[in-house]
Amino acid sequence: MDRYSIIENKNQREIVLLKGFPCVWGKCSFCDYIDDNSKLEDEINNINFQVLENITGKYKVLEVINSGSCFEIPKDTLLRIKEIITEKNIEKLFLESHWCYKNKLQEMRDFFEIPIIFKIGVETFDYEFRNVVLNKNARFKNVEELKEHFDSPCMLVGIKGQTKEMIDNDMDIILNNFNHATINIFVNNTTDIKRDEELVDWFIEKYKFIDKNTDFEVLYNNTDFGVGD
Ligand code: SF4
Repeated sequence: MDRYSIIENKNQREIVLLKGFPCVWGKCSFCDYIDDNSKLEDEINNINFQVLENITGKYKVLEVINSGSCFEIPKDTLLRIKEIITEKNIEKLFLESHWCYKNKLQEMRDFFEIPIIFKIGVETFDYEFRNVVLNKNARFKNVEELKEHFDSPCMLVGIKGQTKEMIDNDMDIILNNFNHATINIFVNNTTDIKRDEELVDWFIEKYKFIDKNTDFEVLYNNTDFGVGD
């Protein structure tokens, strides 16, 4: 499992994939990466401390992800991240959180005391597909409600049952409402959710211009950020 990488092509930054406590929700139908979660706090911290040793501050920007939300990262790891931010002159942080923590985001902003870009797994703005098919339990009604809390949506593209109209609508929303977003092309995993190859081919052809947009990142494979397995 690679847990440290440097993203050089867009939004240059270092990225670490840390271990965390179990995801608060843990029931999204497409997700099997919660297998990385643990309840052993000492073990989690030990692994995380080693991973965090890699950080150099090269771009003064750090992204911290775990298989869940940043609120599931143990306190000692958060304190170590805060020390590293000072030691390495990190000026901006990317963190990720589930919708259910929306009212706690400010606590994390207050704790780290540097600008945070908060990412959220939106997957799609189609309410039914998001909450019924994907079982995301992210029950915001519209993009305005989302923008009150979060800065950068993570979208999922290429799942059987998704339609071209849904994806067109999603791309229209993110391109017109956000300065930053991540688009994950779905890759088959151990869940019952399946990739729609025809839809993926259509998306890649139609939306290849997004890859030229420096602020929108398209992940064709789960490991395109250089972390994971
Ligand atoms: S919220 Fe994220 S980590 Fe948790 S089950 Fe859903 S996709 Fe997986």
